[in-house]
Amino acid sequence: MVRIVLDAGHGGKDVGAVGNGLREKDLTLTIVKHIGRMLGEYEGVEVHYTRTDDRFLELSERAELANKLKADYFISVHINAGGGTGFESYVHPNANSATIAYQNVIHAEIMKAIGNVTDRGKKRANYAVLRETHMPVILTENLFIDNANDTAKLKSEQFLLQVAHGHVEGIVKVFGLKKKAKTQPQQKVPDGKLYRVQVGAFSDIENAERLAEELKKKGYPSIIV
Ligand SMILES: [Zn+2]
Repeated sequence: MVRIVLDAGHGGKDVGAVGNGLREKDLTLTIVKHIGRMLGEYEGVEVHYTRTDDRFLELSERAELANKLKADYFISVHINAGGGTGFESYVHPNANSATIAYQNVIHAEIMKAIGNVTDRGKKRANYAVLRETHMPVILTENLFIDNANDTAKLKSEQFLLQVAHGHVEGIVKVFGLKKKAKTQPQQKVPDGKLYRVQVGAFSDIENAERLAEELKKKGYPSIIV
């Protein structure tokens, strides 16, 4: 079982960066929830969140939560600010080889997923969540909230899904996750009968198939015999 902690940057009284009508704390929560939901389609992965609503958490609390869970990976999602454009990711200056290897994979998958966005590179910084977590960790800065071109993208739900998808593709590659087998939705049988559509009663198989299809639409299971 792979245990992932998803950390939506900021929250509560700490709104993070703001610009162009957007708040970092809202975007990070939306992205992280998308990541968590998408990971639900995979086997052998357990997702934890540092927050699932708009609340304040100290940076050390976030790291502590992941340490207590003995998580396999910690992913902190942020939105950048300060007059730039594009995507960048961070690990700690003393990051171990696993953290660096994971960053290489995840950074590349995110860049692939978000299309025509400036790649600002794989960076290192002494951020608290990178320093205090005892497992491989990455912090992503997903575009700039104070750049009009970037926020035009960040205002699109589709783009936020792409950002999440990139994170997920990276996690899937790093941990070799497999998709859950698709379960067929149970068909409702109104009266418990199975309708047999006799091919012989029709001029050709095409008509029989048409009737079978019509029955199916009405919710009646049918077979062509
Ligand atoms: Zn931030």
